[in-house]
Amino acid sequence: FRRISSMANFITDKAYINGEWRSVPGSFNVLNPLNGEVVGKAADCDRSLAEESVKHAHAAFQSWKNTGAKTRADVLKKWYGLILANQECLAELVTKENGKPIKESMGEIAYAASFVEWLAEEAKRTYGTTIPTSNANKRLISIKQPIGVAAMITPWNFPAAMITRKACAAIAAGCTVVLKPAEDTPFSALALAKLGEEAGLPAGVLNIIPSSREHAQEIGEVICTHPDVAAVSFTGSTATGKILLGLASSTVKKVSLELGGLAPFIAFESADLKKVVANAMACKFRYMGQTCVCANRIFVQESIHDEFVEQLIAAIKNELKFGDPLDSKVTFGPMINEKAVQKVESQVEDAIKNGGKVVCGGKRGKLGGTFFEPTVITDVTPSMRCCNEETFGPIASIIKFSTEKEVLAMANDTRSGLAGYFFSNDVAQCWRVAEQLEVGMVGINEGLISAPEAPFGGVKESGLGREGSQVALDEFSEIKYMCWG
Ligand code: ADP
Repeated sequence: FRRISSMANFITDKAYINGEWRSVPGSFNVLNPLNGEVVGKAADCDRSLAEESVKHAHAAFQSWKNTGAKTRADVLKKWYGLILANQECLAELVTKENGKPIKESMGEIAYAASFVEWLAEEAKRTYGTTIPTSNANKRLISIKQPIGVAAMITPWNFPAAMITRKACAAIAAGCTVVLKPAEDTPFSALALAKLGEEAGLPAGVLNIIPSSREHAQEIGEVICTHPDVAAVSFTGSTATGKILLGLASSTVKKVSLELGGLAPFIAFESADLKKVVANAMACKFRYMGQTCVCANRIFVQESIHDEFVEQLIAAIKNELKFGDPLDSKVTFGPMINEKAVQKVESQVEDAIKNGGKVVCGGKRGKLGGTFFEPTVITDVTPSMRCCNEETFGPIASIIKFSTEKEVLAMANDTRSGLAGYFFSNDVAQCWRVAEQLEVGMVGINEGLISAPEAPFGGVKESGLGREGSQVALDEFSEIKYMCWG
């Protein structure tokens, strides 16, 4: 597989529409969160380019839907190989766009590629059913068919993996895609499209229309209301998800949403404390806490509370290294932008005002910019903002509890339900708690749970539908029932 020589070759001020790299009238700057330097100028698409993309995607769908499953799988497998061959420069691009420590960005590209591979394999497994009938003169069959044009809006925290997890599921199913990447991270999406083109994706099957924040709303309106779009898939904030869900109702589209979480992370007293601390570090502080499945509320049983806090602080001091995220030794970089830092800062202030104790960090980082110190707050109560509002930053909010019943009530007392984690060596408790937690995904003695073969998604206001796994293509398929007389 061909390696693109450097990251700079992936930076383009063009959009990718109907197989062409299109110059568009407007542009916007993409900034490096480390220092505010311009990574590059990106194409600022608008309503009319969104409409045009839908038109091309709709035309391309008429032939892509009739390709054989193996044809689609072969293109995806080639794409997978190209992504891995370019892992280093794609990772560098992710780090430049969103400040993710380079080791984690390498991990993200491998994770992004793993979806392409998995979904290539799933392209060949869209089985239908034959249905035993009560009427001897009829024969009943169901088949799965691609739903049509799928519109997608993706976030900045996984600028590569969210593209492949969504777009490849649709493409594998026989759909075509119009995708608007986040304004902070458009180049990763365009880089993947470039490799998809090289892998042999026909024109119009994947269209990438970056836009500035100013145009996000109008693009959202076009793709969520256009009669030629059949499905909408969004990952981002709950507030935006609700707007898009409302828009999609006018034409009754199939909607998949991956929205905010408020993940409970529960440490019961029977747990292996070392393991709890190691997983809390990974689950809370990877990418500076900026993932939707990051631990948001850390519940610790009273008998192990003090020791847990002590060990967590020691791990923060020993293991996290601040600096330029392109440096492979660095594990803690800048946050995405000033707004994100202000949110974290205000949650800390609110916690202090209401009796929380900051026992580690709590301030902006010494390196300035959007660095914020990894923070531990104890004596947190459910009424504090750090406990009832998604943090999306490096604050470990610790809540002490005494009984399983009490902690389950607190953990479930929210409208969010994405991921949840707990640690226990009591097998009966593991079954009870895993079944009682009101979330879409549970980590049992495990803080890192994402995998292409596992169903990713939430309950309550954390989302609709699942990504990855053996049900991934269902989001982009319709079941057609045939009754033969
Ligand atoms: P965040 O606060 O993390 O940026 P958002 O939900 O605002 O989360 O952004 C996620 C994605 O949704 C981005 O691609 C952004 O451009 C897009 N977006 C934000 N607001 C709207 C909107 N009103 N309509 C359509 N897309 C939007």
